Amino acid sequence: MGKLWRCSICGYVHEGNEAPECCPKCSSPKDKFVELTNEDADKIYKSDRTNDIHMNIIKLACEIVELSKEGIHINLDPPCVDLFEKAKNEAWTIKQRSKAEIVSHIGKGKW
Ligand SMILES: [Zn+2]
Repeated sequence: MGKLWRCSICGYVHEGNEAPECCPKCSSPKDKFVELTNEDADKIYKSDRTNDIHMNIIKLACEIVELSKEGIHINLDPPCVDLFEKAKNEAWTIKQRSKAEIVSHIGKGKW
C-alpha cells in the first residue's frame, strides 16, 4: 500500500511517496496536498476496489439489457419474450442499484 495524498482544493487523490508537483486535476501546487492517515488510505483502497466491482456489475448488467432487447426483437415465442423482458428489468434494477451505491460512496468521500 503506497502513501496517498489528497488535494485540499479539489479532492484529487494521488498515490506516491510524495505529493505531485501540481494537481493533475486543478493545477494547485504541491503544498495544497495533505497526506492521508493509514486508516483513511485503507478506506480509499477498499472503496476504490469496491467501486470498481460496482462498475463491472453495471457493465455486465448493460450487456444483459442489450442481449435481452435482442431476444425480445427476435420474438421466437411468448415465453421466451417474457423471459427476456424479466431479465431486462432485473438487469436494470441491478445496474441502478450499483449506480446509486457508487453515488452514496462518493458523497461520503469513499472513492
Ligand atoms: Zn486539485
